[in-house]
Amino acid sequence: MTDTQEKIFQRDDKNYLPVFNRYKIVLDRGKGVYLYDLAGKKYIDFLAGIAVNVLGHNYKPLVDAISKQAAKVIHVSNLYYTEPQANAAAKLVKLSGLNRAFFANSGAEANEGAIKVARKFAKKFSADKVQIITAWDSFHGRTLATLTATGQPHYHEGFEPLPKGFDYVHFNDISELEKKISDKTCAVMLETIQGEGGVYPPKGDYLKKVRELCDKHHALLILDEIQAGIGRSGKFFAYEKFGIKPDIVTLAKGLAGGVPIGAFICTEEVAQAFKPGDHGTTFGGNPLACAAANVVLDTVPQEKFLAQVEEVGKYFKQKLFDLQKKFPEQIVDVRGEGLILGAELGKSKKSGVEIVNACMERGAIINCTVGKVLRFIPPLIITKSDVDEVVKILDDVLSE
Ligand SMILES: *Cc1c(COP(=O)(O)O)cnc(C)c1O
Repeated sequence: MTDTQEKIFQRDDKNYLPVFNRYKIVLDRGKGVYLYDLAGKKYIDFLAGIAVNVLGHNYKPLVDAISKQAAKVIHVSNLYYTEPQANAAAKLVKLSGLNRAFFANSGAEANEGAIKVARKFAKKFSADKVQIITAWDSFHGRTLATLTATGQPHYHEGFEPLPKGFDYVHFNDISELEKKISDKTCAVMLETIQGEGGVYPPKGDYLKKVRELCDKHHALLILDEIQAGIGRSGKFFAYEKFGIKPDIVTLAKGLAGGVPIGAFICTEEVAQAFKPGDHGTTFGGNPLACAAANVVLDTVPQEKFLAQVEEVGKYFKQKLFDLQKKFPEQIVDVRGEGLILGAELGKSKKSGVEIVNACMERGAIINCTVGKVLRFIPPLIITKSDVDEVVKILDDVLSE
């Protein structure tokens, strides 16, 4: 017999570090696009653990691969080879068109590794080529280097002194980047589509111009696809949509369907900046995580799978535009690609949090980021009827 939800709230509130404003439900199990709380209430999940559960919950091939691997061996040191890791790395190299992959345990760690290798690479040219330019409203993680890379000052406050060498530009403003970038720039680091900061896709040929500026100044282009990658945009890597290739790309969230993992993938030239001992990890890319990643990497890149993401994404976006037409005061903008979509709130009768709570009461889990953008990052397996279910709930909530 398990405890009641009320008892679990109390125990957790008393013992867990107070860094999360948790919603008052205890999630217990999932199946497909649905989650169930401890009281047995069913929720359609349009958050997917923040863009993580790309294959939905309790997906049989993923559960089987994890169980099978756990029964063989969960973990061995990176001092040894394992077949799941060799396979996962080979798949990422092939999919990206880059040359070398490294596995970590989280997004922040993937970015931390990318920043380290970029700094080491730039040292070959000059000792003061250290500047890393990132974007305002970006999100790159919570370690000291990655929170500094994150262009949102409220994440910095209280954690000074911060690592040096970071500068910020406005995303989609190419002339500002042109002014800031120089031969002292080590790397430009951007989310291909900004997620946490409010779902902002790149406009026009912005990323192509960024690529050109990086080339001109021998700066590396690091694309953070921790949220927008793994098929979410309708392409396996979101950068494929914008006709460019980075020198380093980072992944995490959806990469192992829910098992903790992170990765960065880079060119051979960049990879050669690292010698044995320059970077490492105990857990990163262990056989359990890689067995899970291999299921995702065998499933998501399939043409049919990605075409479905694109099609359902278009359908969903149109439904959001329809909601905007119906509630023009409450929804002032709809944007995004594939299944990373945002609806920006205007003078809403309800705040973002109130809308999220009202949806939850009606059995839909959605998210609001930066206080004013409803963000939809569902499992990639959703269907049009799942979209209809959530849009109906939103319609009801906005009508109230
Ligand atoms: C979530 C996220 C991260 C951080 O990932 P963690 O696994 O939480 O460390 C970094 N970059 C982007 C774009 C993200 O969405």
